[in-house]
Amino acid sequence: MTLLWGCAEPAAQPAVESGLHDRASAEFTHTSPSEHSQLEVGDRWPKHELLGQFDPSVHPDFERVPVTWTDKDNIYLRTEALSAYGRMRTAAAEDGVQLLIRSATRNFEYQRGIWERKWSRPQYMGWQAVDKARDILTYSAMPGASRHHWGTDIDLNSFENDWFESGEGEVIYAWLNAHARDFGFHQVYDDKSTGRTGYEMERWHWSYLPIAGPMLISFNALISPDDLRQGDFSGANTADGLKVFTDFVNGVDLPPAYRKTDR
Ligand SMILES: [Zn+2]
Repeated sequence: MTLLWGCAEPAAQPAVESGLHDRASAEFTHTSPSEHSQLEVGDRWPKHELLGQFDPSVHPDFERVPVTWTDKDNIYLRTEALSAYGRMRTAAAEDGVQLLIRSATRNFEYQRGIWERKWSRPQYMGWQAVDKARDILTYSAMPGASRHHWGTDIDLNSFENDWFESGEGEVIYAWLNAHARDFGFHQVYDDKSTGRTGYEMERWHWSYLPIAGPMLISFNALISPDDLRQGDFSGANTADGLKVFTDFVNGVDLPPAYRKTDR
């Protein structure tokens, strides 16, 4: 099994333990993978979990998002990610910024529902499968290849990039850019100015990297392009040609501490 870097205790150490008082000194480096010894990450999360094939409502590592934090009825996050989000939410509220979770964990079945609804859009009548898949991939992941499977990623406030450019949205986005890192959250789908591949910019999608960072490493170690291509959904066999594994799953912006160093 491949040796890779990763946090020794990714689920035990919140990014900011002392909450608001420590904001100025709280940096990603507190949980930087490079500060920890190398270890095998391949078996930390089972393959089916990385592919979203589980039910978060009965998973012991997941907790329901409080109803007042979201406009959804029944959504879940990994407990550590939810705790960190709760601290961030409180800090934002103290600055007059109201964060709202619009989406959290989505398992394979849920993502398949999104994918299949888009797949059968009337506008795609007569399209080749590969062209349909490429178009849907502008903003939506293939089932099995979504970071929302991991229980670490959330969508906040609005699914429109424009909304974050003025008024309340601009204030919220500025606050997130200034403070989200203190709580472990990062916008992984940036404006692509650094050459990132894959999905277009998503100002609403924030990832809890103390867990999601090691999870991406596990994903790369355990999941093969075949696992995606053999998925049970329309157009799964386009995954190889569209480079879903390399260009989309790995098409993320990460702070330096979370970037690949050895391959
Ligand atoms: Zn998202």
